[in-house]
Amino acid sequence: DDYMANVENFGAALTSRTKAIMPIHIYGMAANMESIVSFADENGLKIVEDAAQSMGVYFEGKHCGTFGDIGVISFYADKTITMGEGGVVLTNNQEVFEKAKLIRNQGRPNSGTFIHPEFGMNFRITDMQAGVGLAQIKRLNDIEESRLKRFQMYAEKLSDIKDIRPIKKPSKSTFIPFRFAFTNSCKNKIELKLKESGIQTRSFFYPMHLQPAVIKHYGAQEAQSVSEELYEKGLCLPIHHKISFDDIEKICDVIKEVYNDK
Ligand SMILES: *Cc1c(COP(=O)(O)O)cnc(C)c1O
Repeated sequence: DDYMANVENFGAALTSRTKAIMPIHIYGMAANMESIVSFADENGLKIVEDAAQSMGVYFEGKHCGTFGDIGVISFYADKTITMGEGGVVLTNNQEVFEKAKLIRNQGRPNSGTFIHPEFGMNFRITDMQAGVGLAQIKRLNDIEESRLKRFQMYAEKLSDIKDIRPIKKPSKSTFIPFRFAFTNSCKNKIELKLKESGIQTRSFFYPMHLQPAVIKHYGAQEAQSVSEELYEKGLCLPIHHKISFDDIEKICDVIKEVYNDK
């Protein structure tokens, strides 16, 4: 229902070479970090949290990305807050912190020094981007409120269509909707009809085990029926704080037409 990894299935995927778990907090909700942290502790694994979509999202009062050894939040253009590109790495581990600083700065601890204790690349954000980011953080509460309002409006307008099942928020998580994510039985039709009306949608993510890069480097993977079904049925409608209520009304009308034509 929440499209996130279920710790009950982790045991079967564990091998002697497993070093870390990467939970993904998807669509503006938190993964169940209570069960993931205890699984990681029991099995001596590190946790790297993909909190790209979870700026401002909390699991039982603790911010996404702060449970694991490393957490990453994205400030790419379509995220909750943005600097155009870039993001932050969160860690409480001094060693990881020092190493990350070297890797992002061509292997140097700071600018102005030209002695490189490590190899690295240029993963720095610019001061101008950081300025945009700081201004955006101040607006986070407004952005949260406006995204929730828009999610609610989609849910209400589409509530008569039983085939449309919106994402369900886990009870221990807060929610800053990333998109209006839902599953349904005629994704391709809705996608096409909206496209013809000039409205962009996003499919759910292409399953990891089917990614050509994964197969190229690690060979064919076992089928994962839940991921495949979600990809087949999952679609996202646009949510951002500038999309108007009229726009949402129009988008919902187009979707209703798809069902009326059936
Ligand atoms: C956007 C996104 C990323 C990538 O973030 P970048 O800042 O583009 O590197 C990773 N994971 C998820 C779930 C995302 O939504």
